[in-house]
Amino acid sequence: MSFAKSKLPNVGTTIFTVMSALANEHKAINLSQGFPDFEVDAKLIDLVHQAMRQGYNQYAPMPGYMPLREMIAEKLYHTYNIEVNPDTEITITSGGTEALFDAIQAIVKPDDEVIIFDPAYDCYAPAVKLAGGKVVSIPLNPPHFSLDWNSIKASIHEKTVAILLNTPHNPTGTILKEADIQNLIEIIKNTNLYLISDEVYEHLVFDNQIHHSVLRYPQLRQRSFAIYSFGKTFHTTGWKIGYCVAPPELTQEFRKIHQFVTFASPSFVQVAYAAYLKDPEHYLTIPHFYQRKRDIFRKLLQENTQFDVLPCEGSYFQLVSYQRITDEPDTEFAIRMTKEIGVAAIPVSVFYQNQEQNRLLRFCFAKKEDTLHSAAERLSKL
Ligand code: PMP
Ligand code: GLN
Repeated sequence: MSFAKSKLPNVGTTIFTVMSALANEHKAINLSQGFPDFEVDAKLIDLVHQAMRQGYNQYAPMPGYMPLREMIAEKLYHTYNIEVNPDTEITITSGGTEALFDAIQAIVKPDDEVIIFDPAYDCYAPAVKLAGGKVVSIPLNPPHFSLDWNSIKASIHEKTVAILLNTPHNPTGTILKEADIQNLIEIIKNTNLYLISDEVYEHLVFDNQIHHSVLRYPQLRQRSFAIYSFGKTFHTTGWKIGYCVAPPELTQEFRKIHQFVTFASPSFVQVAYAAYLKDPEHYLTIPHFYQRKRDIFRKLLQENTQFDVLPCEGSYFQLVSYQRITDEPDTEFAIRMTKEIGVAAIPVSVFYQNQEQNRLLRFCFAKKEDTLHSAAERLSKL
């Protein structure tokens, strides 16, 4: 029976689920959905086992296990030189996805507008629509996917409630620069706009550039929900633990939603992360670790394939243009490549509100070196 009044009539199953299933079906190397194919640190696995054996198997406190929130506050002090109150400003969630949903539901009312940059990660727009809000898409300018601050300024009016930022950016691999932050500070100065800042790839910033978290800037921090994910930082995407950092009055509203979406996130994982965070090396080594993978993968693509490799300043995604290979639409090409060549990628049009065709694919390079080599060998046949 078809559902006549879908709240999300144009939404199907996410491309990540579709492409991973296709990759499995055809035994393809899966560079589509973003997740690592290497082992999690054995120390962290031991900590999880230990926490379960110690009895951390019942509900965690609704805002999160306090020692974990305290360790996050310490980490924020080390990374961004800011004081954050773990009691009133940090909430543990079931992944960055839940945190994004909660933040959007907390602030968006029917007919409110939220500015989202196009292309964007796929969970933002549906959450805005479920809250009754309207997505205002502003294109990022290729080839560098830069922000056009004049059109952003022109799009802000009394209905605009928030801007959704994402740095490092999925899918383009770009990062916000100091000049972007200054522009942002300037244009929101006399507004009541909130910022939802998706910073799940905060530690995947390359070439000695810095991550411009909204938390570093008091003018931004006071109106921001900053969102993070341990899945990305500690190669544990299946554990689904993230967190939101926001000023007390925003955190209060955020928790009103969080408590009825999941109430609390898995207890033993929170206990394990709290212990693991005591050694900052565990996150300080991440940029170097992924930069090496980025460099290997880019070189392999450049030397062995007909893809044109776009810049990648952060995240674990590499965009490529396939215009020298075919003029097929990207979804068709991605499906054919999975079936015939045995490598799965994400067609970039799915990240656009209007399915724009730029002849781009997104590869995830959070993979073992062997995997990257095998993928490049297969892709060289195109
Ligand atoms: N934001 C972005 C930009 C992402 O790429 C992802 C996905 N992995 C998320 C949020 C969701 O993070 P999590 O897996 O922790 O829910
Ligand atoms: N964030 C991951 C990506 O962009 C996927 C997460 C998911 O499958 N929902 O590939």
